[in-house]
Amino acid sequence: MHHLAAHLPWPRVKALADGGAWALLPVGSTEAHGPHLPLNVDVVIAQEVCRRVARHHDAVEFPPVAYSLTDFAAPFAGTVTIPAETAKAMLVGVLRGLGQSGFGRIAVINHHLEPAHFKVVHAAAAEAQAGASFRVVVPDHRRKPTGPQLGDEFMHGGSHAGTYETSLMLAAAPQLVDEALRRGLAPVAVDLPGAIKQGATNFLEAGGPAAYFGDPAAASAAEGERLFDIIVRATLDAMG
Ligand SMILES: [Zn+2]
Repeated sequence: MHHLAAHLPWPRVKALADGGAWALLPVGSTEAHGPHLPLNVDVVIAQEVCRRVARHHDAVEFPPVAYSLTDFAAPFAGTVTIPAETAKAMLVGVLRGLGQSGFGRIAVINHHLEPAHFKVVHAAAAEAQAGASFRVVVPDHRRKPTGPQLGDEFMHGGSHAGTYETSLMLAAAPQLVDEALRRGLAPVAVDLPGAIKQGATNFLEAGGPAAYFGDPAAASAAEGERLFDIIVRATLDAMG
């Protein structure tokens, strides 16, 4: 069952923690996601995954972490990037706070996929739970076998505001997608991980002048549902 921590008084939270509920921490970013999607795409997706995971577990979703390092989108208005060490310290602090609240099981539901950020999330989880009595799980849907199931575009460039994220948004929050604009967008066929390996340090250098990659026009809510099913299954597997 899904519980929203922000809407609960502390005795209810304590009862849930004492009863063995999971604490879920949605993590995203505030960054440009093409001209057709809002800045909070990663947060919206992470929160939707939390809601769906809570169909299978007693889980308390905490307020999201909506700022992190997001250097690739930095050239675009609205993107707010913070230093990696600040992001890590913030996450460690929040995770320890959840543990000190009595939650023995914490899952970080991260959907900001910038590699340097995901590294920070893994490092923060390890640091927070070192020597602690609580466990922190970081499901990572980029990894095999899940990553390839999310499609070629996810693996090779479209995980930023392309078919993948746009479909998830059409399934989770269609009111936040500019449909007229989306349908007219030309595909940006760039191998984003490849461009990063070759030294691109932001989306402009990688060949994405409007902060999207892949093919948003090909997105659909049905594809979003298919993707959520895979992500949620992988998340539940990681939670054990
Ligand atoms: Zn994103």
